[in-house]
Amino acid sequence: SYDELKKCTSNFSETNEIGSGGYGKVYKGMISDGQIVAIKRAQQGSMQGGLEFKTEIELLSRVHHKNLVGLVGFCFEQGEQMLVYEFMPNGTLRESLSGRSGIYLDWKRRLRIALGSARGLTYLHELANPPIIHRDVKSTNILLDENLTSKVADFGLSKLVQDATKGHVSTQVKGTLGYLDPEYYMTQQLTEKSDVYSFGVVMLELVTARQPIEKGKYIVREVRMAMNKTDAEYYGLKEMIDPSIRNAGNLVGFVKFVDLAMQCVEESASDRPTMSEVVKYIETILQSDG
Ligand code: ADP
Repeated sequence: SYDELKKCTSNFSETNEIGSGGYGKVYKGMISDGQIVAIKRAQQGSMQGGLEFKTEIELLSRVHHKNLVGLVGFCFEQGEQMLVYEFMPNGTLRESLSGRSGIYLDWKRRLRIALGSARGLTYLHELANPPIIHRDVKSTNILLDENLTSKVADFGLSKLVQDATKGHVSTQVKGTLGYLDPEYYMTQQLTEKSDVYSFGVVMLELVTARQPIEKGKYIVREVRMAMNKTDAEYYGLKEMIDPSIRNAGNLVGFVKFVDLAMQCVEESASDRPTMSEVVKYIETILQSDG
């Protein structure tokens, strides 16, 4: 709308750059009502333009949920493309897991982060109208607010990103390597269950703190090979658990959580749960601790 346009073009001050990603640079800024925001400024040509794009963005700006990073505004003017989001002071889940942000996430916190993110995705799949497939669920797209509540970012955006191989018939995949639904390779289609797969990978990251592909090793395969169900406490995964949570002990519902993650990363999409089933299951894990 005109208001939003005005808000983001004339009244925000670019204070500092906080990162850069697939679309361009991200700045921390402030809009006229005093709200602190993250401003994504698209690189020329990295996003599609045109009416269809604007319609899509308008749709996304109407999606509100406490576990989704809200799109506060946007502007497209004189070749400029900016998306304005709520600012998440505690950065990405990836930063915390790799120890770069100095935030320690204990096991309970990790369960709550998983639950919150799953709720956000459930909202996109089942309650947004029309339903939205995220298409790029990963630990760098899960952000933490001031209370360490998790919020999913960048939903619905990846299909708007212009293909690097523009002009060719594209075989380029849209998701991120290591998170991508294996069925995508057969069907060439991303579905809600593709998000479930990627989410399962994130769950394994919460357990191990490892990235999906590290030193050429694929986390899903590593866990599958190491799993030993006769170990009632750690499922044979003791060596793979993030030492910072393993040393703290009392990993409530650990086995159930790993079981759920492995269901999410089933090769066949029909064997995976839905996001709302994932939510219910994590809720029971958290409740079983009282
Ligand atoms: P990518 O394309 O890799 O997902 P993004 O362009 O989404 O990267 O973001 C780049 C970086 O900017 C992130 O890693 C994060 O540190 C920061 N960032 C993005 N969105 C926000 C936000 N809403 N609040 C705070 N920081 C953010």
